[in-house]
Amino acid sequence: MIDISKKEIWFLTGSQDLYGEETLKQVAADSQEVVKGLDASKHIPIKIVYKPTVKSPSEILQVCQDANSNPNCIGVITWMHTFSPAKMWIGGLNILNKPLCHLHTQFNAEIPWEDIDMDYMNLHQSAHGDREFGFIMSRLRKKRKVIVGHWKTERVQQRLGMWTRVALGWDEIQNLKVARIGDNMREVAVTEGDKVEAQMRFGMSVNAYDSSDVIAHMDKVTDDELEALIKVYEESYNLSDRLKEGGEQRQSLYDAAKIELGLRSFLDAGGFKAFTDTFENLGELKQLPGIATQRLMADGYGFGGEGDWKTAAMTRVMKVMAYGLEGGTSFMEDYTYHFTPEKSYVLGSHMLEICPTISDGKPSCEIHPLGIGGKEDPVRLVFNSPAGPAINASLVDMGNRFRLIVNEVEAVKPMADLPKLPVARVLWDCKPDLDIAATAWILAGGAHHTVYTQALTTECMEDFADIAGIELLVIDQNTNIRQFKDTMNANEAYYHIFNRRN
Ligand code: MN
Repeated sequence: MIDISKKEIWFLTGSQDLYGEETLKQVAADSQEVVKGLDASKHIPIKIVYKPTVKSPSEILQVCQDANSNPNCIGVITWMHTFSPAKMWIGGLNILNKPLCHLHTQFNAEIPWEDIDMDYMNLHQSAHGDREFGFIMSRLRKKRKVIVGHWKTERVQQRLGMWTRVALGWDEIQNLKVARIGDNMREVAVTEGDKVEAQMRFGMSVNAYDSSDVIAHMDKVTDDELEALIKVYEESYNLSDRLKEGGEQRQSLYDAAKIELGLRSFLDAGGFKAFTDTFENLGELKQLPGIATQRLMADGYGFGGEGDWKTAAMTRVMKVMAYGLEGGTSFMEDYTYHFTPEKSYVLGSHMLEICPTISDGKPSCEIHPLGIGGKEDPVRLVFNSPAGPAINASLVDMGNRFRLIVNEVEAVKPMADLPKLPVARVLWDCKPDLDIAATAWILAGGAHHTVYTQALTTECMEDFADIAGIELLVIDQNTNIRQFKDTMNANEAYYHIFNRRN
């Protein structure tokens, strides 16, 4: 479902011809060593590819054209080992359409106090070479990531690694196909949006299908496939008595399994890596897909409930970014509150569709009435989620721009068992507290739907917003409502003047 093996980040070292052959040879050797070190780092999941030092406008233009046209190249890292007069970079940077990270590092970490001479000074010039490069990037109004520090340190490698994950997410959304099975939940506002603009901005395409398209694939499911999946359910989850062999709702487990097989086949046949459905458009589907959606999400598919294509896309993108990291990522909804005089919490959940990658143990597989939609009882996985830091992210359409809102939260263990709650759930403590977080979130127009992740950080979402050229609002430990309002007002003007939709 997620394949990063062919993806590459290109490492571009800037210099100029003035230095002569010997220095340039040293520059090339040093760059290759840096690339070797970064490529071997356990923190960097994407292959880092060395490119020969660029020393002239034509070489820079050429490598940027090559990066643009190479489908495996998902981004570039730039580093000015020496001074590299930055007017040379204008042509290349003007056309470069891949994410860019400016690594402000130096080959040697410490000054060799006894030996330092002018030759050393001429070689190790990133302190000023990277400033010249930074100027032209700012002059071109080019959004980019800047990472400062010695390249051998864990901190630099970790940050670089996380940025490569964001570049991977950007590459994913460029090619993402989202299938909407049914339309939007009737009259709901926040899950709507401009799908043409979304394609122009993010690359992703969002198109509608009908439940009959899924049923056509369900009709092709064989008994063997069905029995095999039932066996997987029996081995992977604790089945409730009603769903066990001989149980009174055993048939519903078969119906659910058939929906999973049909839905998976439909998605794979169409190349869809994210999807939505809605309980109002189920057609002949007997149940709202519960366990099917949960297991598809666990395999890496994006999902948004009630036609929420923006959250479906972001779930997929964030799952791709988080590939191989500890901690799960799920579609989420702020469901109900726990207000106490001391502290207040949010119980996050959904009608059914929470991803088992955030489960704290073996989920139980249960069947209960949905109480909405008038269909048969859906089968779902029920579990709690581990405590620890997480973020909630919501992408909304403000009419003239997309806005990404992120709230940092701390998941906590529920204070008691929830024996009658028939859905998967997470309890969290918002930063800085529920009062300020919910005030800011509501003022920002953040959705009730989010992507919840314990694998990614706010910095990832910040980098994603920069690459996409969309607005970002962060609610964290330092959020102050008056400043938050000022930021939104400033952004309103900024996006009106500089970054409005075409
Ligand atoms: Mn919902």
